[in-house]
Amino acid sequence: MKVRIDEDLCVGCGLCVNTCADIFEMKDDKAIAKVKVVPAGSEDAVKQAKDECPVEAIIVE
Ligand code: SF4
Repeated sequence: MKVRIDEDLCVGCGLCVNTCADIFEMKDDKAIAKVKVVPAGSEDAVKQAKDECPVEAIIVE
């Protein structure tokens, strides 16, 4: 599973970092994904973060 964040959509709310700090972090008021390929143990948390993002900026493939 791959993850990335659409920086044009992200409003910097920080929710994804709270939900899954292993994968997401804040940088210059936007969230970034620290990895492209999600480790198996973090997949559920990444899916949760995707569902929670208020602007659907988290793209999972
Ligand atoms: S939850 Fe969405 S809008 Fe909020 S920081 Fe993460 S990617 Fe950006």
